[in-house]
Amino acid sequence: MPEGDTVYQTGQRLAILVGKRLVRGELRHPRLSTVDLTGREVIGIRTYGKHIFVRFNRDLTLHNHLMMDGSWRILGPGARPNHQTRVILGTAESTALGINLKQLALVPTPEEDRLIAHLGPDLLDPTWSQTHAAQAIERLSREPDREIGQALLDQTTVAGIGNVYKSEICFLLGVSPYTAVSEVDLQEAVRLGHDLLLRNATTPNRTTTDNPRRRLWVYGSRTPCLRCGTRIQLTNQGEGLRERVTYHCPRCQPG
Ligand SMILES: [Zn+2]
Repeated sequence: MPEGDTVYQTGQRLAILVGKRLVRGELRHPRLSTVDLTGREVIGIRTYGKHIFVRFNRDLTLHNHLMMDGSWRILGPGARPNHQTRVILGTAESTALGINLKQLALVPTPEEDRLIAHLGPDLLDPTWSQTHAAQAIERLSREPDREIGQALLDQTTVAGIGNVYKSEICFLLGVSPYTAVSEVDLQEAVRLGHDLLLRNATTPNRTTTDNPRRRLWVYGSRTPCLRCGTRIQLTNQGEGLRERVTYHCPRCQPG
């Protein structure tokens, strides 16, 4: 699943549409297939956690979520869609193709906030402050017995963390992803989340180690732990639809 920094970067790339009028605007979705956005001007892009909003003139917004495998591609004018394309936004200069997008909806722009009202604060909110951090800590601590790996992934506690940052934050905290929330320094967890996402929001090569030869501490690793040499463990955390892979070093991350 894309992490908050990927969504943020997608928003930055989509900004190429801003100020431009659509010469083609199609939504390939059962509920929206008759909508024609041709002639609309794109006036802004907003991202929040893993949600993307494309704003048009006359108070209209296209909401979408990348979920597990969604993406946006920016191509030249007149680019052709394929069978996975859900959105085509073409201007005279470029074409944005929304691939495998989920939760597609057209809403009046003033209703954007309603769609994200359930989410915790966005770690990449440009106005991020101590107030946002305090809200995230309060939401994380609501279920003190929950495993920290699960709590960090829950977008209603704090928005923007996926499997990669969940695993990396737990490593940097020195706790197993299975540790109860009540035993974790939540202030440090939120600080790390904000710091890591912000650092990676503007770079193409995500890193939490600043080591170009090994960009991440534990996520995706089949080799020994960078710190202690113990073999990194890959496990599935959570049940049913909430099951997600998680990586941790059993020695550096007890609990
Ligand atoms: Zn280790």
